[in-house]
Amino acid sequence: MAGVNGSPMTESTEDRGARDGGDGDVHPDDAGSGVVIDRIGKTYDSDGSQVRALDGVSFTVDQGEFVCLVGPSGCGKTTLFRIIAGLTEPTDGEVRLGGTPVTAPTTDMGVVFQEYHLFPWLTVEENVGFGLERSDRSAADREQRIDEMLDLVGLSEFRGSYPKSLSGGMKQRVAIARSLAVDPELLLMDEPFGAVDAQTREMLQRELLEVWQSTGKTVCFVTHDVAEAVTLADRIVVMAAEPGRVAEVVDVDVDRPRKRGDPAFGEHVARVRELIGARP
Ligand code: ADP
Ligand code: MG
Repeated sequence: MAGVNGSPMTESTEDRGARDGGDGDVHPDDAGSGVVIDRIGKTYDSDGSQVRALDGVSFTVDQGEFVCLVGPSGCGKTTLFRIIAGLTEPTDGEVRLGGTPVTAPTTDMGVVFQEYHLFPWLTVEENVGFGLERSDRSAADREQRIDEMLDLVGLSEFRGSYPKSLSGGMKQRVAIARSLAVDPELLLMDEPFGAVDAQTREMLQRELLEVWQSTGKTVCFVTHDVAEAVTLADRIVVMAAEPGRVAEVVDVDVDRPRKRGDPAFGEHVARVRELIGARP
């Protein structure tokens, strides 16, 4: 666990140095906020036995792209999410964000967990502003940023409320606003809508797409809900289990805004389901 502070990643490593890692050896594909997941492996040691959670996982998320990661329970989605976020160290390989190896949590990423990780003793606006506290923005600038984020997720009226008085969907909007407040290059989400009802979930999906389209962020989104992935993603990384690995990367060639009744939508859902169900 990230501890009580969860997201946003305030353990800033902004002073880690030049974004090219200082060695000038940047592959062109690594430029900007693109993410390169390069031959990631992870073995957990628990009580003397070893679990190979991930093996040889490689794919990229281009700058401004929306990539979903889907796969059966236990295929290593959360492990990979934590490795990309710099919260878990991989056994093999490395993750690069904009060409720089990720070795610790950074404010370059906004992280949204399935559980809301809000601070119950802070109001909505204080939660949204939390990551800004340690930034070098002026008080007026922070205020303005909080206003913009509350407006973006439609919670301006609830700025003075405490999390306990909010619905699940509203709490997750606060978490999204908080993760975006520090203006991260990459938004990283692990089953963020898993705890809300189906109707709220579809609303949050639409809102997230609006945020993505208006901010141009790079998004990497973990879900086990295939229809959710087809609704959101430019590309879907389909994972298989034991060991966790990439089974296939599917281009979602369906016009936006996407409709569940559209035949192309249904074909993509069927294709991804087949890949998940298929045994090697
Ligand atoms: P998913 O999110 O796809 O359900 P996880 O990344 O949570 O998958 O888990 C992948 C595998 O790694 C599972 O077999 C799980 O039991 C194991 N695992 C996850 N976290 C740990 C840990 N901290 N210690 C030991 N094994 C773990
Ligand atoms: Mg998980």
